[in-house]
Amino acid sequence: MTNKIPVGILGATGSVGQKFIELLTDHPWFEITELGASEKSAGKKYSDAVNWVMQKPLPDKFGEMLVKNCVPDFNSKLLFSALDASVAGKIETEFANEGYIIVSNARNHRFDEDVPLMIPEVNPDHLELIKKQKYSGAIVTNPNCSTIGLAMALKPLEEKFGIEAINVVTMQAVSGSGYPGMSSMDMIDNVVPFIGGEEEKMQTEPSKIFGKLSTDGTFNSADFNISAQCNRVPVIDGHLECVQVKLKNKLSRQELISAWENFSSEPQALNLPSAPRYPVKYTFNEKHPQPKTHRNEGNGMTVTVGRLRECNLFDYKFIVLSHNTVRGAAGGTILNAELMKAKGYLDKIL
Ligand code: NAP
Repeated sequence: MTNKIPVGILGATGSVGQKFIELLTDHPWFEITELGASEKSAGKKYSDAVNWVMQKPLPDKFGEMLVKNCVPDFNSKLLFSALDASVAGKIETEFANEGYIIVSNARNHRFDEDVPLMIPEVNPDHLELIKKQKYSGAIVTNPNCSTIGLAMALKPLEEKFGIEAINVVTMQAVSGSGYPGMSSMDMIDNVVPFIGGEEEKMQTEPSKIFGKLSTDGTFNSADFNISAQCNRVPVIDGHLECVQVKLKNKLSRQELISAWENFSSEPQALNLPSAPRYPVKYTFNEKHPQPKTHRNEGNGMTVTVGRLRECNLFDYKFIVLSHNTVRGAAGGTILNAELMKAKGYLDKIL
């Protein structure tokens, strides 16, 4: 017997679904009891349905589980969604209407006006939006993987200096396009300067994430402008972003570095199991951050910033590195669920 909360994973066979299994295997609060995927996988043992690509071996107890269809007959009332976006919208709505709490990675509900688009260190107060939802359950989403790294790096600056405009150019890992993703012929010895829908997500999601929710329930989006260019590069995990920022209040380089180094937020105050001690770390090595060296910083939950320089066009420029399937997907979603538990938003299913 365990006192842990039983959880299910929708889209358990994909690359984010597998990362959920890896990260939840020894979680102190949540215990995976059900795995769901498409009809082609349903009814099979998980080990037969999945092409396991994680670095740690698949634990036997999950390999033996039978994969379920993603219909709302799960026993677990808390579900992590790593569903393909072509089906996530409808399936997540069906579950939420039946009383399930869905904590999702998919883009489909991100801009519903009553759905939080949440990064726990950045906008934990947006959880309040759930109270407006008509579902008997609830839906909470996390942003796109490259938006998360950017927003984490911007939050300490936005708090202290205000942001006017951002230009960002990304170099994004192949795991970001799911499994099997792009072919090796496309990616080896190559860079692809296009990721469908990615630039639009980076340009629109921050306005909701940094929006202000008033006590009377009104929501005002943030008003800074963002221009994004996104590239796929031959790296397995870890998105690198070159950022230029124009601030409302001009301050010194040291003040920006101090803002990153001293940044701490609600997940750290609540000591949530997946919260890194340092949500953002600044590195002074001029060749850093790099995907291989920094993606696992803080168990993949810390965002590393470096190479802060003055910019001839904007005020400053710097580099951001974040783990796209941990902080940018499964790990970020688990942290969302931990915050929900700590703040009583899971009480109705316990
Ligand atoms: P993926 O590897 O393609 O996996 C998709 C999952 O959806 C698989 O488990 C698949 O099951 C399931 N699925 C497909 N059609 C289904 C259906 N009709 N009914 C039920 N399940 C179905 O994708 P991914 O990279 O893990 O991404 C999952 C979600 O997270 C996407 O919405 C993606 O945009 C988002 N996301 C990904 C990343 C990243 O870095 N990869 C980051 C942030 C957000 P089968 O194996 O049975 O087909």
